[in-house]
Amino acid sequence: AIVTGAASGIGKEIAREFLAQGARVAIADLNPDHAREAAKDLDPTGKLALAVAMDVSNEVQVERGVGQVADHFGAIDILVSNAGIQIVAPLETFKFSDWKTLLAVHLDGAFLTTRACLKHMYAAGSGSIIYMGSVHSKEASVLKAPYVTAKHGLEGLAKVVAKEGAAHGVRANVICPGFVRTPLVDKQIPEQARDLGISEEDVVKKVMLKETVDGEFTTVEDVARCAVFLAGFPSNALTGQSIVVSHGWFMQ
Ligand code: NAD
Repeated sequence: AIVTGAASGIGKEIAREFLAQGARVAIADLNPDHAREAAKDLDPTGKLALAVAMDVSNEVQVERGVGQVADHFGAIDILVSNAGIQIVAPLETFKFSDWKTLLAVHLDGAFLTTRACLKHMYAAGSGSIIYMGSVHSKEASVLKAPYVTAKHGLEGLAKVVAKEGAAHGVRANVICPGFVRTPLVDKQIPEQARDLGISEEDVVKKVMLKETVDGEFTTVEDVARCAVFLAGFPSNALTGQSIVVSHGWFMQ
């Protein structure tokens, strides 16, 4: 399996859970030191986890990194396209450069890693691709224009991969988490408090968790369990789908 953005947060937990289930896992991340540290932490034997440095928005780095994983493990059965960033600002002052950076990580990254992995999956006649969407694949929030746009876009990509991949045994699905306490979310709390003119506590209670059924954050473990379920699902009954893991914030 290749998990992008696996040096931190949700991706790291998915890598941990995949390893626990017996997979060999490539920890793909932007920062080579962070990828190596995560791989060592998750697999002290050094035999089951492989650190791979790649910027998912860079075509050359993705092609090289995925090739390295295929050579090392001999096959690529699962891709979790998870690497992501967040930039919050009101639309009227959103910097074009920030818009493009965010779309490049989420959408170019998903496309490039998918294309590179499909080559190996088609050759093997099977594969499972999981995109890390969000409740923001279904819903919108203020201050998050490119994020909401990108996360909606991933659902479109997953559906096309599901249709094109079916003839080659490849399935594609999207996991849509609610708010999960990771560095990506911790960074947003003070930023949103500033932009919305409210306290950090109110950002958590009245913005992030307001619509959940229990006022709880989703956990990295919740998301990782869902990834194991989707990765191992044995038929095309689940392809082109999205599963919302959000404590009832969004119900479909
Ligand atoms: P995180 O910041 O903890 O981890 C993201 C990882 O992605 C980091 O290790 C980072 O180095 C890596 N990364 C960033 N840009 C990259 C690039 N260009 N190439 C390769 N790696 C790159 O964040 P997280 O909360 O674990 O988020 C993971 C995914 O889950 C993201 O796609 C995010 O949008 C999505 N998500 C998060 C939440 C949440 O509440 N945390 C909710 C819904 C969806």
